[in-house]
Amino acid sequence: MKSRTKVVVIGGGIAGCSTLYHLTQEGWSDVVLVERNELTSGTTWHSAAQVTNFGMNQTMVGLKTHSINLYKELAEDPDYPINYHHGDGGIRLANTEAQMQGYRHFTSMARGMEVGFEVIDAEECARRHPLISTDNLIGGLWDPLDGDIDPAQLCQALARRARKSGAEVYRNTPVTALTQHKDDTWTVHTEHGDIDCDIVVNACGYRVNEVGAMMGVHHPVASMEHQYFLTEEIPAIKDTGHRMPLLRCPISDYYCRQEKNGLLVGFYEQDCKTWGMDGIDPNFVNALCPDDLDRVTDVLEGAFARMPALMETGIHTVVNGPITYTIDGAPLVGPIPGKRNAFCIIGLRAGLGEGGGHGWLLAQQIVHGEAQYDTWCLDPRRFTGHTNAELTALKAIEDYQNEFRFHFPHEHRPAGRPAKTTPLTPVLAAEGAEFTVVNGWERVDYIKPAPDFHPSLSFNFDEAFEVIAAEVRNVQDNAGLAEVNGFNRFEITGADRHSFLDRMFCGTVTKRAGRVGLGYLLNHHGMIKGEATVANLPASDRGPERVWYGSAAASELHDMDWLSRHIQKDEDVQIRSLTNDQTILVLAGPRARGVLSTCARGDWSAEAFPWLSVRECFIGFASATVMGVSFSGELAYEIHVPNASLYAAYLALRKAGEAHGLKLFGARAVESMRMEKGFLHWKADLITEFDPFETGLDRFVKLEKGDFIGKEALQKRQTEGARKKLVTLRIDASHAPAHGGASLMQDGKVVGTVTSGDWGHRVGMNLAYAFVDPALATEGSTMQLDLCGDLVAATVIAPSPYDPGFDRIRG
Ligand SMILES: Cc1cc2nc3c(=O)[nH]c(=O)nc-3n(C[C@H](O)[C@H](O)[C@H](O)COP(=O)(O)OP(=O)(O)OC[C@H]3O[C@@H](n4cnc5c(N)ncnc54)[C@H](O)[C@@H]3O)c2cc1C
Repeated sequence: MKSRTKVVVIGGGIAGCSTLYHLTQEGWSDVVLVERNELTSGTTWHSAAQVTNFGMNQTMVGLKTHSINLYKELAEDPDYPINYHHGDGGIRLANTEAQMQGYRHFTSMARGMEVGFEVIDAEECARRHPLISTDNLIGGLWDPLDGDIDPAQLCQALARRARKSGAEVYRNTPVTALTQHKDDTWTVHTEHGDIDCDIVVNACGYRVNEVGAMMGVHHPVASMEHQYFLTEEIPAIKDTGHRMPLLRCPISDYYCRQEKNGLLVGFYEQDCKTWGMDGIDPNFVNALCPDDLDRVTDVLEGAFARMPALMETGIHTVVNGPITYTIDGAPLVGPIPGKRNAFCIIGLRAGLGEGGGHGWLLAQQIVHGEAQYDTWCLDPRRFTGHTNAELTALKAIEDYQNEFRFHFPHEHRPAGRPAKTTPLTPVLAAEGAEFTVVNGWERVDYIKPAPDFHPSLSFNFDEAFEVIAAEVRNVQDNAGLAEVNGFNRFEITGADRHSFLDRMFCGTVTKRAGRVGLGYLLNHHGMIKGEATVANLPASDRGPERVWYGSAAASELHDMDWLSRHIQKDEDVQIRSLTNDQTILVLAGPRARGVLSTCARGDWSAEAFPWLSVRECFIGFASATVMGVSFSGELAYEIHVPNASLYAAYLALRKAGEAHGLKLFGARAVESMRMEKGFLHWKADLITEFDPFETGLDRFVKLEKGDFIGKEALQKRQTEGARKKLVTLRIDASHAPAHGGASLMQDGKVVGTVTSGDWGHRVGMNLAYAFVDPALATEGSTMQLDLCGDLVAATVIAPSPYDPGFDRIRG
């Protein structure tokens, strides 16, 4: 066994084997995998091992496509072929029009990844899968490349190829402890000796938290018991002469694939069960949980009704094993929060289908610092501070119960709520607030017109459309107040804070005390890493001169990680997070100045406190820090208030607002208004796949200034020219917004992808942002949007169609 290597991957299931293999493919051969037992002795060995292409976003579809292509290549390896039923096809069933519309959107999205889903009616479903009945069925989504694979052969093939490229695999070598050294390298202690390494990867499946504990980390991963059974031979299958496609049923929560000449049917029962919450028997190896088919009778009936042949067939084997879930259902693949040189590939609930792709994207992150797709949807840093075992289990149960029911736009499921609140949450609830969830925070979506107001789940504009229009109108005409909780806020102090930030941002951001600026952070490839406001607070009795760095609500751990790892040893810079201590009240609208002047002393005129100013003050008797910034396009103030005085500040503002028509507004009104202003959202429009020039942020880049992170790469990129350009589009449809991921077409070819869309109530236009081919990025260019299966006209318009001169913001 080596005593030193570059990377130690812990765990020899699909996650670990795929990571090891892809590290060698990315050029690192001095890498090892340690496995406590034999390869695949965790969940992988008993997996149903279906491989599908369906995903809710382009990153998921892309990584699954990688799995499929890789598995096909492995299956066709003349020296070591493996069993892979590639391209049997698969159907996701639907019994509501809303589900069918969702499938049409996912088809539009997947087209941009060169994946050809198809939406088919009930008769076509039955033609392609002759065992199913069409009762209570409208149709489904056809996924042509679905199949299944032999999990043990797959892992052996990956390990074998990795070994051929120089990697080593140590079986029967349990990791017993981990030590991190001052230089951030690691020692991995095993039962057979120690291995020093630069980087460790946790790929331990349901034992993730045993290894997490060795580095003092709790990962938000919970295991559920999950069952399938295998039937005896079904003559009708043989008679069809072709393999049965896979089935996924959101109506009765089961899946099914062909196994020999019978079926394998797996269940997601409502009466489901967590597993291993109080620790896992160390001898649970190549093991299963006891069968419990009684637990699945609720869903069993649905499966039998859909496939009557099951009623005449015997069951010969039941498999019940642990399967891992995370808080939002998506795996955790990337850097471990709060740790250096530590990565994880965990919480895989469809690890056989996805594992090839996850290992690929993880290896790219480890070797190059970033993957070729934006991996935020998988990033372990996306949850901040609300991820204990209880909440994880509650969300795992909910996700398991809804396994095949995709989330609709604006759908926030009830389990584990409320997780993060402020003193205002119950107050706003009493005002009739409907809440959305942002990184665990309960944030006002809009104020309901009646307590029993529940818009339908749909990809169309829903019944809240007019409610949001009214909120926007009041912000435009009078004044609105919105609580924006969870917004990320760092206080940066130290003599070198400005030079440090100058190195982090690609543009010049103001250093003047009392002023606020906006900056963009790039990664080492010159791509967009982050966006932040910088407010330079003057010295006061509340503290010395300092910077308040503000960024998106979920970015706290991501940005802290990025900023802190770039502080140089001799730099005087300190960063502390205020995110959980402060909440923002946004006061917006032409009468906002009147409201503020009524409840806060001082001169708030445009001359004394112009746009992009910051000032400490009191709102009534609540201490506050006010910034003249706007995401709505109206005159607006961000009022940052310590949570202890939040209610007092709120009451003072409401009272002051009585004479100015002040009303509450929520996140959906903000979403509409920011689309009218050309303002971008981090991780929707601002992603690591594009550089700032492609994203239309030229004015925030200063290549002529000193060195900054990503400069060299960006200069190189600039000479190569843009691959896509972000544009604002007018969509000629009034029934539905353009959804993120939807494809833009011209002459039958995909020419762009939507990042955000919403109705602009002030301009009366259906608006979208999209990355499109540069040739189409000029004003007036037309193309067609595949809007849930309908091709509608989309025209490039000038950015910021509402108040393009920014006169209203300046007030
Ligand atoms: C019944 C069932 C059906 C499924 N069907 C499908 C399906 O059809 N399609 C699909 O895509 N997915 C399916 N899944 C899910 C899929 O099987 C898992 O997502 C996948 O196998 C997880 O792989 P892994 O490598 O993350 O974990 P594991 O396979 O559990 O591997 C983790 C490895 O880490 C090792 N390890 C743990 N601790 C240590 C330590 N201290 N030192 C060294 N090594 C350690 C373990 O021994 C183990 O080998 C199914 C799961 C179940 C339970």
